[in-house]
Amino acid sequence: MAKKNKKHIVIAAAVAIIMTVLLIYRYYIPDMKTKKQFTPAVVEYTYDDSVTSSELAEYQSQQGWQLTLVNNDTPICENCSVILTALDNGQAVDCRIYPQLQKMFDDARSQGIYPTITSSFRTSKDQQEILESKYEHYQKIGYSDKKAKAYAEEWVAMPGTSEHELGLCVDIASGDSSVTNEDVWNWLSKNSYKYGFIQRYTAEKQDITGIIPEEWHFRYVGKKAAEEMHENDLCLEEYLQMAS
Ligand SMILES: [Zn+2]
Repeated sequence: MAKKNKKHIVIAAAVAIIMTVLLIYRYYIPDMKTKKQFTPAVVEYTYDDSVTSSELAEYQSQQGWQLTLVNNDTPICENCSVILTALDNGQAVDCRIYPQLQKMFDDARSQGIYPTITSSFRTSKDQQEILESKYEHYQKIGYSDKKAKAYAEEWVAMPGTSEHELGLCVDIASGDSSVTNEDVWNWLSKNSYKYGFIQRYTAEKQDITGIIPEEWHFRYVGKKAAEEMHENDLCLEEYLQMAS
């Protein structure tokens, strides 16, 4: 009988410990830096088929736009405006990156890789909605409000701090069931620099970019910079630091 009581005590203690650990886990947010809050700048946008040819020429001749830095600490410019090229299924990118993006996709397809764009230009309102739906997702699966918010912010850039709001990047997946996402991302990580694109957020550079690895996110930086970054294994922040 005494032995049986002892067993009950051990089980009760184990349950108490597990409950305590779960409670701590639910409310404790390990090592998460809170992101800076910005009032998101609103980017004015229009499409290349609704501007004059001289407006388009002027836009295309601007200098230095390829290396525009946007990250958690560097929000997008105030009073920015972009001219977009509309793509299939509601996607759009800065018209200046479109020719190389198209070429990269054509070459990939000719090699049996069938990429598709899952996300491209976003307004700050789109970005806010993505952040909120991620937050709701974490709440639904049982996280505390505080933790749901922290995880959502870990995954989604704060409005005003995403490259997507300038149309200079695309999220890419496989568009064909015969090819996996990994095949597409591997091809792109080996070849995208030839077209001026870089895989922007890698595990290796997470400490510098502040963004969890995103194999699908490719940013246009121009051919020269992409080649140098590829060759010297630099992320955009490191590249800009070296160039300054
Ligand atoms: Zn992205």
